[in-house]
This record gives sequence, C-alpha cells and structure tokens, in this order.
Amino acid sequence: MTIQWQNWSGSQVHQAQKLALPETEVDIVNLLSKAASEGRSVRTIGSAHSFVPFWTDDYLVSLDNMKGFVNFNQANLQATAKAGTKLHELGEPLWNEGMSMRNMGDIDRQSIAGAISTGTHGTGVTLSNISSQVVGLKMITAAGQVQTLTESDGELFKAAQVSMGTLGLITEVTLQLVPRYFMHEKNWHASVAECEEQREELVSNNRHWEFFWDPHSDGCAMKTLNMTDQEVEASPAEGEEIGRNYTIIPSTRDNKFNEIEFSVPYDAGWECFLEIREMMRQQYPEVRWPVEYRTLAADDLMISSASGRKSVTISAHQGTNYPHEAFFQAVETVFRRYDGRPHWGKVHTHRHEDLSRLYPDWERFRQLRSKQDPDGRFLNTFLNGIFGIS
Ligand SMILES: Cc1cc2nc3c(=O)[nH]c(=O)nc-3n(C[C@H](O)[C@H](O)[C@H](O)COP(=O)(O)OP(=O)(O)OC[C@H]3O[C@@H](n4cnc5c(N)ncnc54)[C@H](O)[C@@H]3O)c2cc1C
Repeated sequence: MTIQWQNWSGSQVHQAQKLALPETEVDIVNLLSKAASEGRSVRTIGSAHSFVPFWTDDYLVSLDNMKGFVNFNQANLQATAKAGTKLHELGEPLWNEGMSMRNMGDIDRQSIAGAISTGTHGTGVTLSNISSQVVGLKMITAAGQVQTLTESDGELFKAAQVSMGTLGLITEVTLQLVPRYFMHEKNWHASVAECEEQREELVSNNRHWEFFWDPHSDGCAMKTLNMTDQEVEASPAEGEEIGRNYTIIPSTRDNKFNEIEFSVPYDAGWECFLEIREMMRQQYPEVRWPVEYRTLAADDLMISSASGRKSVTISAHQGTNYPHEAFFQAVETVFRRYDGRPHWGKVHTHRHEDLSRLYPDWERFRQLRSKQDPDGRFLNTFLNGIFGIS
C-alpha cells in the first residue's frame, strides 16, 4: 500500500512506496540496503518546507524519531543535535547551557539537517548561512557506511554542509555557537526612496536589516535586529520588541505560499530589486505578495548560494491559491541578468548548464557526489537535471 504525502505548500505530492521513520542509524543502514536490493531511490524529509521536487515515489525517510541533543560543549561553544531536531527545539536547551545560534532565518519550523542542506539563511551582512555554523556532521552513505566529517576532511565536508541530501543521509549535526544573547527588534515603514537613501547606513549600523516591499502600496516594511544587554523581555515601544534571540529572530507564517529566491552579488542587489519591482508593476500588478530583501555574508562552502561572494537575497512569493509559474519565470529572467544563484529549496528552473557557470566548484561537487553515491540512490529526476545526469 502506498502512502500519500505532500510538502508544506502542497506543491509537491507523492504516492510513496514507504515512509520510513528510523529510530537508529542501524535502521537507516537496513533501509538503504533494502532500497539498493530493490533498486529504489531514497529521499529524506526534514520538515518538507522546501518548494522544489526533492522527493520520490519510492522510499521517503523522516527523521522525526531522531531528535534531541547528543551533547553540549560549553568550553568550545559547540553542541551536537540529532539531524531530525527542528530549529525551534534548539533554542531553549541551548539557552539553558548559555549558548545560542549565531543567526536564524524567518521561521524556525525546519529540521536542522533540512535547513543546512539547502543553505538556509537569515539576514545580516556579517552573518553567513546556517550551514556555515556547522563544524561537524555524521552521515550515512548510500552504501551504508557511517561517515563523521569535520573541517579536517576538507572539501568533502565543505560539500556536505550544503548538499540537498545527495551525499548521504545526515544523522547528526554539530554547530558552532555563540554566547546566548538578547535581541532588540524595530519595525517601521518607509517609501522606496527612503529605503534607497538609508540602506547602506542601515546595513552598516545594524547586525540585521531587511525589508519587505509591498507591491500594493509600493512601501517597504523595514526591520532591524540588534543584540542588547537589556535582559527584559518586554516591548519597549510600539513596533519594537526585546527578547531571547530565538524568540525574536524567527516569525510565524500562517498563510501558505510558494516562493522563488536568488542570491545576487551584493553590489547589484538594489538594481536587481528595482528591476523586479518595475517588472511586477508592469506585468503582474495583480500580485499582492511581498518581495523580501536581505543581505548575506560570503562563505567558503562548495555550492552555497553565497559561496565566495557577499550577497543580497531577493525573494518573491505567490499565495498557493494562485498560479505562480509564469510570474516566477519572469522574476527568474531578471535574476539571470544579475548572475543570480537559486536558493536550493525554492522554486527555480536552473539546471546543470546554468549552474556550472555560476559555481566555480560545481564540477568538483559533481565528482564528489558521484563518488559518494555512484548508483544515484539519493537522486531523482529533478536532481538529475540539476547535476546533468541523463
Ligand atoms: C514558510 C517558510 C519560510 C522560509 N524561510 C526561509 C528563510 O528565512 N531563509 C531561507 O534560507 N529559507 C527559508 N525557507 C526555505 C527552507 O528553509 C528550506 O527549504 C529548508 O531546506 C527547509 O528545511 P526542512 O527541514 O523543511 O527540509 P526539507 O525541505 O524537508 O528538505 C530540504 C532538503 O534537505 C534534505 N534533507 C533533509 N533532511 C536530511 C537529512 N537528515 N540528511 C540528508 N538530507 C536531508 C532533503 O532531502 C532536501 O533535499 C522557508 C520556507 C518556508 C516554507
């Protein structure tokens, strides 16, 4: 009997042969061996918050039974969590040990392994993505071999930090943390002209700055976040909030949408945003969902969207009750003019031919992938297109 499954936005639906809920690494090794003997593909679900066809009708694996902390190391400000742990399950236990994540994205519903596998990020020109906070990984290869990777493993580790689940099934993640901290959030509205005038100052003077452009009003909902010593969890003024970092950085997203996001070189970010705004006003005046503008520090991970370049990330949304394909295609056409790199978890039509031009280490990643998983156990049609496998 098959099981019916779908992702968060409902854009990906599967009738899978099996939804496995392993409790141990041995369970995973056994599942991989069974899949190999049957010639089936295996794709892992974190929290299914990605919008792209990552999954399979063969064997789906959820690590919802492999959650929680393995250890805390206060001396090094590090902690190891099981891969199925959700981001919202990390904050409080870490806080109780005096530690916190350096940064988070807009929400905290993702699993730690799923978040790092697509290069999930927040905003802040000095802050790199969550994958860059990883200093150790444990994963199981398609052949059932357990690999423990750290910085000393060189390029395989750099590849595994963002890998869309194609190098192995991650079972544990060790994070480099920082001492716990409170955050002060401020929200206000600005016109596009004010936003343009103030943006460099806002980037320089704040740990985090971002805005949502509202196509309906043509205004910007601005937000800054900064560390504070004020240990009071109270609202200091209208539009402001103070609290533990893990309660302030993420928000909730109650209305379902689909999303496209690309990273463009930092210096091209504003021009790219203006072009998307103009295109939407001319061609898609009916779209009511906002465009988000964030900054992201460069990193040295092989296929992270910020690999080797400081970036601006721009994302457009469309409610799940409306078609998004033509609109996203028009947005992607603009991103192509700016050497945009797709967010791996969000809608895009980039394939091997496009990606090999955008990532200096693309070919090397492909070689590592093929060595790790020569039979393509962790691949599907979508990923074959990404990696140019016929
Ligand atoms: C409402 C919403 C808000 C979002 N906000 C942001 C944001 O602020 N910033 C941002 O960058 N992104 C954001 N995203 C995108 C999201 O963070 C990514 O798509 C992320 O990968 C989802 O994590 P997940 O746990 O749901 O993983 P999934 O979507 O389930 O999986 C993602 C990938 O990871 C792989 N994977 C999962 N677990 C494992 C494992 N144990 N071993 C190996 N591979 C694994 C999967 O196979 C898949 O390839 C948002 C998405 C939504 C729906």
